Amino acid sequence: MLLIRCPYCEQDRAEVEFAYAGEAHIERPGDPSAISDAEWESFLFLRSNPRGIHFERWVHVHGCARHFNAVRDTLSDKFIMTYRSGIQRPTKSEIRRAEK
Ligand SMILES: [Zn+2]
Repeated sequence: MLLIRCPYCEQDRAEVEFAYAGEAHIERPGDPSAISDAEWESFLFLRSNPRGIHFERWVHVHGCARHFNAVRDTLSDKFIMTYRSGIQRPTKSEIRRAEK
């Protein structure tokens, strides 16, 4: 069974309690009317699909119902770390430390 750590509940819980909520750290343009249609389309629809480390948003649907971010390896499906929303994206060295 895949366990995911909720950074708010501070517990490892079963994957069935969570739902994927998209790619993390996507910034909404400050003034949408000031950007081109292509830039707006990119913001709305284009997401990365990396092979390896991916930054994701998850929601603890059957728990605290809060959104948080996770670093997951798409090759192994392993959650390397989770962290609260609003916190900066972890650096490569922080991710490497968490992998150990
Ligand atoms: Zn929770």
